[in-house]
Amino acid sequence: MLIIVREPAGDLPPGPHSTVIGNFCQIPGELLGQYRDGTSPDHPPSAEEARQRCQGCQGSPVPPSRSPSDSPSSRPRPPPRRLPSPPAPAVQTDRTAQAAVRVVRYDASRAAEFRSAVDQAAQIWNDSVSNVRLVAGSPADFVVLADNGWPRAQPVGRGRGTVWMGRQATGQGYAPLRIATHEIGHILGLPDRRTGRCTDLMSGSSAGTGCTNPYPNTAERAAVDRNFAGLTPPAVEFGEIYVDAPADAAP
Ligand SMILES: [Zn+2]
Repeated sequence: MLIIVREPAGDLPPGPHSTVIGNFCQIPGELLGQYRDGTSPDHPPSAEEARQRCQGCQGSPVPPSRSPSDSPSSRPRPPPRRLPSPPAPAVQTDRTAQAAVRVVRYDASRAAEFRSAVDQAAQIWNDSVSNVRLVAGSPADFVVLADNGWPRAQPVGRGRGTVWMGRQATGQGYAPLRIATHEIGHILGLPDRRTGRCTDLMSGSSAGTGCTNPYPNTAERAAVDRNFAGLTPPAVEFGEIYVDAPADAAP
């Protein structure tokens, strides 16, 4: 039975059937919702991402204080019953995720002219994911070198390995910052996906020299967060060298 208690209109939750979290529409009873455009995401947003995006999100009936980590006894009093409310948001791992943030140290002291691009790339990743934080320092988990070959990366563990910022690519016009975020993406466990789409960071050189986008897309960010939450094994082969040469490059 639907019980509606008359309250000032501004207090009523805007919709009883779904919770808008960022670009996701969470359906009650389902962890994985769909994008606002109706398509389903490859992956659910991380708990931290969902929480951050939920804040200030127009149409969200879930106030920030309603964290599932609040036990019922710790709440001052339950909210008045109005419309049937959706289940608690899927942020159960919120505090766990924050506590599990892994610090990965990198050494870009031998990255020559690419050093600032590497630092910017690290900042982009820090702004994009919640479960890992890149910090310049030692002992380094991964090192970034400059040489005259193609850009490439050798992940040897979660957040560990070597990146080579090859001048062969920048010499042909590929953007150094996109190269740096892409190669660090390998170190963070992402494989190449040569889709040709500039919106995909891991499409690498397949997006062409005109693509300068250095930002990981939603699925790429979520995959890194899952890797560092220990939820999924990385999709890269540890020890393998991922060479980012264009398909038509001479061997
Ligand atoms: Zn690559």
